[in-house]
Amino acid sequence: MKKSTKRKVVRTAKKHPGAVIAVVVILVVIIAVGALLYFKVDSVHNAVDDLVKRFTASDVENASGGKTSAPTFTTYGEDDLSFHFLELGNAYTGDSVYIKAGEIDILIDAGSRQDSAEAISAYVNQYCTDGKLEYVIATHAHQDHIAGFVSTKNNPGIFERYECETIIDFALTNAETAVYNNYVAARDAEPGAKHYTALECYRESKEGAQRVYSLGEGMSMTILYQEFYEKKTSDENDYSVCLLFTHGSKHYLFTGDLEKDGEASLVKNNALPEVELFKAGHHGSYTASTDTLLSVIRPKIVCVCCCAGSTEYTSNTANTFPSQKFVDNVAPYTDCVYVTTVVSVVYDEKKGKDVEKGVSMNGNITVLSSGGTVTVSCKNDTKLKDTEWFKANRTCPAAWSS
Ligand SMILES: [Zn+2]
Repeated sequence: MKKSTKRKVVRTAKKHPGAVIAVVVILVVIIAVGALLYFKVDSVHNAVDDLVKRFTASDVENASGGKTSAPTFTTYGEDDLSFHFLELGNAYTGDSVYIKAGEIDILIDAGSRQDSAEAISAYVNQYCTDGKLEYVIATHAHQDHIAGFVSTKNNPGIFERYECETIIDFALTNAETAVYNNYVAARDAEPGAKHYTALECYRESKEGAQRVYSLGEGMSMTILYQEFYEKKTSDENDYSVCLLFTHGSKHYLFTGDLEKDGEASLVKNNALPEVELFKAGHHGSYTASTDTLLSVIRPKIVCVCCCAGSTEYTSNTANTFPSQKFVDNVAPYTDCVYVTTVVSVVYDEKKGKDVEKGVSMNGNITVLSSGGTVTVSCKNDTKLKDTEWFKANRTCPAAWSS
């Protein structure tokens, strides 16, 4: 700067000290805002993204077809393991459990009917944003577990909606049904998928098949053994794939629709730990969740995937899901029992008669394992024993009445 110009600037500054202060303050603010944006642009972007997701999530449809909020939606961390028991968009009992382990997405079963793929993916897409399910498990060949994997003319199935990397399913079946044949065709047509049976995983007898899959730091999925992977039975349910998830020192057990004999074999063949969570055997049937199994695993939380009180399988009120026997078996271990859906009988004008509709009991149920603690969250967090349906249809066991 020329000496004359410098003198001019100094003279002007002395005449107008307020202007000098204003210029300095403006410069400091510009630098500070610039630095903040440079370093924080990612987190600001993430926060906005988060907000958008939360508002989108609040429009998920529930089983009764009505719009409901989805307060279970949350953002999970790299080290979190969460289990989501899903409502299936109709009044039919069936299973579909979505599991998120860090960035890994897992789906166990896709019941209950072919149109359930829509309800399942509406939920899963809140969390799985890359269109890829790293693991897909089909526990056994019944419609209420595999129907949603398959596409219909107007409704793409789970195999079509997602890239499924590893598919693990039952080793044996007696099924000769169209839904089973369609499942096999869709499974085998899944591009690039690795397919193993539970027995191949347990034995590690096929290249790439593993008994234990690591899901991240301290997280794993283990394929357990039970004899009906290789022994014929007339009870299709006993062919169910059984899985144990482990997160640090905590365990989570899934047995599909395994019945009494399968549960006995499971106990005999595995050193089962006590578990935080047990997915109720066979939708809370009186034929599963036996004390042989429960006395070993001593569950703290039990989630039942069913339409409570539906007469789909029986008109004997004591045996509709979740059955009185199931309630009596579970009660000594925990009262934290949650059920996805409950039946509602409504008059159908067109049919001119009463029909059963599914409405949310607990709705979609989330069990989150994070930082050594386990929490349950759902649309309505009433335990089974405190619901109107339970009070009207079940006898409260002694363990729950105190
Ligand atoms: Zn089932």
